[in-house]
This record gives sequence, C-alpha cells and structure tokens, in this order.
Amino acid sequence: MDERRALPRVDSPEEPEAWRRELRDSVRTVAELAARLELTKEELEGARRAEAGGFPIAITPYYLSLCDPVDPTCPIRRQVVPHVAEGETVPGDLRDPLGEEAHEVAPNLVQRYPDRALLLVTDRCAVYCRFCTRSRMVGAGGGARSEERLAAAFAYLEAHPEIRDVIVSGGDPLTTATEKLVRLLERVRRIPSVETIRLATRVPVVLPQRITDELLTALRPLHPIWVMTHFNHPKELTETARAALRRLADAGFPVMNQTVLLRGVNDDSAVLAELFRGLVRERARPYYLLQADPVRGTGHLRTPLATGIRIAGELQGRLSGIALPKFIVDTPGGMGKVPVGPEWIVAREPGRTRLRTHRGVEVDYVDPPSGRQS
Ligand code: SF4
Repeated sequence: MDERRALPRVDSPEEPEAWRRELRDSVRTVAELAARLELTKEELEGARRAEAGGFPIAITPYYLSLCDPVDPTCPIRRQVVPHVAEGETVPGDLRDPLGEEAHEVAPNLVQRYPDRALLLVTDRCAVYCRFCTRSRMVGAGGGARSEERLAAAFAYLEAHPEIRDVIVSGGDPLTTATEKLVRLLERVRRIPSVETIRLATRVPVVLPQRITDELLTALRPLHPIWVMTHFNHPKELTETARAALRRLADAGFPVMNQTVLLRGVNDDSAVLAELFRGLVRERARPYYLLQADPVRGTGHLRTPLATGIRIAGELQGRLSGIALPKFIVDTPGGMGKVPVGPEWIVAREPGRTRLRTHRGVEVDYVDPPSGRQS
C-alpha cells in the first residue's frame, strides 16, 4: 500500500484531548509533507521556501486527511500546501491589504468602523491557509497574547463606548487553551459598552475536535457570542465538522460563515451552492462570499472580480435567502466592505424602476404617488 495513502485516524469530538493531539501531530516540515503527499515540483519548492523562513506550514492530521495525496488540483490541498507562486508579486498585491496596521488604535486592536473593533489575541492557527489576509503576522511565533500585552487594547475599548461589537481574532483564538481564552473573553465582557463578541475561527473546519463540551460549557456564560467561521468547500463538511457545527448551534452560538472565493478551489457556482446548502442544514448561515484580498503572493489563488460577480448572479434565485451570502469586496487599504453583484436595476425614471430578475425577465416596479400618507 502507498504510504501516502495511509491517512491518519480522525478522532471523535467527544474525546476531549483529541484536539491537542491534532495540534501536536500537525505537519509542519517539508519532510513530513512529502511523506504524506506526492508533491509537485512547484509544491516542493514552495514548501522549502516556507520552511526556510516564509509563511509557515501547519496542517492538522484531520485536515490533511481531506487532501488528495496524489492530485495537486485537490481543492483542500490548494488551500494549505505551499506553492512556488507564493514568491511572486503581481500588480495590486499588498503586504497588509486591509490596512490593518494603519488602523491599529492600540497594540493588537484594529478599528476600521465606528462601532466595532478587531482584537488580535494570538498569532497562532491550527492550519496556515496559503491565502491568509494576515500572512504578514500569523505564525510569527508570539502565541497567545497575555492580558498585560492586551491592556492598552482593553483600555481603548473602555474609553470608546461607541464600540459595541468586538471581533476576537488572530491567528485563531480557539487554538488558545480554554482557561486562558475564557479569561480574555471575561475581560472583554467586563466592558459595559461591549454588547456582542464574535469569535473568528477556522477551527470548526480544520480542527473540529476542538469544539468540546468543556469549551462550550466554559463559553456559554459569556453569551452573546457569535462564531464566525470559514468553510470554503463542501468537502470540508465532513461528519466530524458537521457535528461540531451542530454542537455550537445546540449551545446557542449563532454560526456565520465567510467563504473566500479561490481559484481552483470554489470558483464554481455548483460547488458553492452545495457548500451553502450544507451549511444551512447544520444551522450555519452563509454570511459573506468574499472576493479574495490582494495579499502578496496569492495571485495564483485569486479570481478576477468579474468571476465573483458572475457567480453571485448564478446563485441568485438558485438558493433560498438563508443560503445566499452577500458577495463582498473588502476594499484595499481598509476603506471598508462593498457589496457587489450583477446589475439588477436596468433603468430608472421618476416613479418607476425597471428590474431584471434572475429569470432574465424585466419587470417594472411603480412607486406610490408622491406625498401619499399611509
Ligand atoms: S485560520 Fe484564518 S488567520 Fe489562520 S491562516 Fe487561516 S485564514 Fe489566516
């Protein structure tokens, strides 16, 4: 039997320490990767460069088990196996595409909108996704931030009661030990103006064993906590991942999913429709379909904006509203998110708007007479 086909055992989410073993046994070196997958020349060179000081490699045994060991076009493999093209810079590429450094209001705290802020509590992730918007800083080795390191961020949140929503991100906050994470979240909860906390995490996708009873029991008293996760392909909706989503929903965590549109991974409306329907079945809401950010070294994984607009048009009408995410461009420089899509308004004149439906039919909407009171 080909050694590369000997996939690791996928542990039950009921086994509380399985997630720690997954992290400990993750593939992090070229040698480990080459022992599990038949790497192409381009992947091998990309992995060598990553190991020699580029954006690091980390793949949990669970997520690696979803990668095709011989097919480099596998949509899971493309997300986590380095490629030599990561060394190329294409026009528009930026080191920090969302201008997070320019919008850092305190160490590890980014504010790009008046009412919400992004708190970066760790630089560690369970896997390092090759398209990561924060590849400039994740995996740098600092690990979970201490409360002392975040003191200025907490002070800023206290001094700015207009911030009602704190997105706890990183890195991946769910790679942090439960006790430490709970202490950080309790600190955020003590700020009276903070109404909602969002946990931005890829753990349900790449390390679903982490969604343990212990974690859910520890986090529940801190509600309302929303979980923002990041499934990109229907192959990621394994029984283990679906069970993790069910456990989150059963414990009262609304789960919202942000999918990044990626070339050769999910740039196909049939693939995305299957993903979004699968998420809804597990009570996870497809929230955004994101045009990939122009991160330096990800040109080979990005699609032209026109592809996303076409796909958004194909999905409209094919999916029910609860399964249909907004297609969004997070504008370079951190200027904010813009919803985009095909043009549904064909013509406008006073009192009348001509609309094109997903069937291609044009229909007029006639306004009520002006000045009429209800
Ligand atoms: S889990 Fe998120 S932060 Fe971490 S590498 Fe992937 S996309 Fe980046």
